[in-house]
Amino acid sequence: MKIGVLDLQGGVFEHIDHLKKLNVEVLRIKKPSQLKEISGLILPGGESTTIGKILRKMNLLDPIKEEILKGMPVWGTCAGMILLADKIQDEEDAYLKVMNIKVKRNSYGSQLDSFETYSKINNISSKKIPLIFIRAPQVIEIGDKVKVLCKLDDKIVAVKENNMLATSFHPELSDDLEFHKYFLSMCRVK
Ligand code: GLN
Repeated sequence: MKIGVLDLQGGVFEHIDHLKKLNVEVLRIKKPSQLKEISGLILPGGESTTIGKILRKMNLLDPIKEEILKGMPVWGTCAGMILLADKIQDEEDAYLKVMNIKVKRNSYGSQLDSFETYSKINNISSKKIPLIFIRAPQVIEIGDKVKVLCKLDDKIVAVKENNMLATSFHPELSDDLEFHKYFLSMCRVK
């Protein structure tokens, strides 16, 4: 199985490293033709405005959207979550608009800009796993078909809708592999 990691900006290598530890072949996605080769795609964290601009410039936005709508499993971490969302608070437009969620960018104020916490997430791990937040978004509205996987202090920080997974935090920045294993299980059943 080959998994793609969108390689335009942001935390690409950390995801590649985790996937390699799980013995998965990785393709760094930079152009539309590569999408046919993969069983799933990770949209890494970074700066959603920058990644969004490059996605448009490289004509990758529509082809990725098309593959997701056809069922390709996708996982967005942090900025990646923002790219998947239908709506972004205080912004007129959004990017891929495939997931029925509304997100609020940088939702943890300056004092809590970055932090790490631990939580047990049903279906994903039997024990508490580290959750690392960096200028993280929060999900503020969800559609009927969206499942909430994790809430922290009333904020929704991990969601799933059919073939789409989105997390406000960065599993690729901790040593834990459970989230990556979970995403691979989504790619295998496809
Ligand atoms: N704050 C960034 C954004 O709005 C996301 C930060 C991240 O991916 N760590 O795009």
